[in-house]
Amino acid sequence: MENKNYQICTRCVMDTTDPKISFDANGVCNHCTEFDEVTSKGWFPNKEGATKLEAMYQKMKKENANKDYDCILGLSGGVDSSYLALKLFEAGIRPLVVHVDGGWNSELAVQNIENIVNYCGWHLHTIVIDWEEMKDLQLAYLRSGIANQDVPQDHAFFASLYHFATKHGVNYVISGGNLATESIFPKAWHWSAMDADNLHAIHRKFGTRKLKNYKTIGFYELYFYYPFIKKMKTIRPLNFIPYIKSEALQELKDKVGYKEYARKHGESVFTKFFQNYWLPMKFGYDKRKPHLASLIMAGQMSRAEALLELEKPLYNENELKEDKEYIAKKLGISDEELEKILQTPSYNYSDFPNMTNKYKRMKKIQHIVSTLLGKNLSNYT
Ligand SMILES: [Zn+2]
Repeated sequence: MENKNYQICTRCVMDTTDPKISFDANGVCNHCTEFDEVTSKGWFPNKEGATKLEAMYQKMKKENANKDYDCILGLSGGVDSSYLALKLFEAGIRPLVVHVDGGWNSELAVQNIENIVNYCGWHLHTIVIDWEEMKDLQLAYLRSGIANQDVPQDHAFFASLYHFATKHGVNYVISGGNLATESIFPKAWHWSAMDADNLHAIHRKFGTRKLKNYKTIGFYELYFYYPFIKKMKTIRPLNFIPYIKSEALQELKDKVGYKEYARKHGESVFTKFFQNYWLPMKFGYDKRKPHLASLIMAGQMSRAEALLELEKPLYNENELKEDKEYIAKKLGISDEELEKILQTPSYNYSDFPNMTNKYKRMKKIQHIVSTLLGKNLSNYT
């Protein structure tokens, strides 16, 4: 990174490893500028937020009074979704609680999930992804050399959640997504995990077996079927409460007996490997930067503290060796084969067929219809 064009934001810690970053005259990056814009519309860690959230909960409860569940909640065992579970419980919400097991759960994650559902007195539904297919898809992704190796897990998570919700007549999705800890993310680093065209194209090229049980959500389902036919709505409660991760963690420890992971995303060995090795090694992307930048912008960390955090190594050598061995064994390949895959050239998602053209066409039509109707058409992205 030590080239003469290197630049780091003077307010957060984002730098030119984001190829699309831009800086103003004071050296403040576009992410910082955009943060104020985004948060003014969607972030209310205050009294106003509490009132808004209560109103959303009341509406949701009323609409579902005659049903078994108010909403669906995906529980990964990470802090975000675990804390969310606790807050829903305290608000008297009745979620359909689902854990999607993509095969990479650490034992600690399983234990944490168990502790939470026991504390709340909920029944846990576990959806186990067909491991033979998952393995094949993950190997296909690794061989494709594209950045976002979390797509097989992430897509499976959302697809399973949506299919399961629909099956149970649930149309509210509670999401742990939040602006306090993940407001900043460079779009250039990643493509969406919800691009089923891209997923199938990559699997067709590098996979070896048919995906029969692995569920996907296609373009039509994503932008039309779920939002308009099934009227699925997403609520992100963490944007309406003061969500401070360290305090949330402490509360979980005290109330639920939650145990902390040694690292961010310690709930999944693969995610850890992908974020701490694959992305930095192959692409020079360090996901801690947008995460820490988000915390700085949310006022939860100083820039100096973040810079210190970034000095820490992403992996220590023994842990990396252990994780590589674990991943190779789990994927059913030799250590040498994994090394060979890790050495293959990097590609961009757009080197494979994808949804961008469909998306652009949809936006165009939406724009025309909006203009004709004189109102804004909304859907989720
Ligand atoms: Zn910045």
